[in-house]
Amino acid sequence: MSFVPTLCVGCWRVQLASLAEARDARLTCKACDAPCRIAPGRSYSAAEQEGFMELSGIVAEARLTPREARGYGGEAERALWSSIYVPLLERLSVRMPGLLPHQIAAGKNTVAQRSIVTTLKTVCDALATAPTGSAQYPIAALATRARATRQ
Ligand SMILES: [Zn+2]
Repeated sequence: MSFVPTLCVGCWRVQLASLAEARDARLTCKACDAPCRIAPGRSYSAAEQEGFMELSGIVAEARLTPREARGYGGEAERALWSSIYVPLLERLSVRMPGLLPHQIAAGKNTVAQRSIVTTLKTVCDALATAPTGSAQYPIAALATRARATRQ
């Protein structure tokens, strides 16, 4: 079974939905029950689902602004082109400390590094499409209350 990335319009979490679920027009978020829409990106296998959800959760905790999400999506794309992942992973681990164990686990394994960067790109690209009044506010805060970021 394959899964496609979706973006919740309520809590802005990026989740995977099976193709059967994705065909359902009433696709809803597993966390908050709000409607979800399909996000661009490749499809994932059942074996990749757990890793995807974990990385997506780490990004959600970091409450990126749409501008950050767009920036990181672009940097991830460049890293995938150049096949040099460590500098980006190191920088992202500072902004999103939850990534550190993943970066350490990947070590010098470029296949593992590439897999992390690919998933982060999918999550960031999806978050970058979140409609918002201001690129300055964290995406997740829209569901609760707007909060200024340190920028
Ligand atoms: Zn949600």
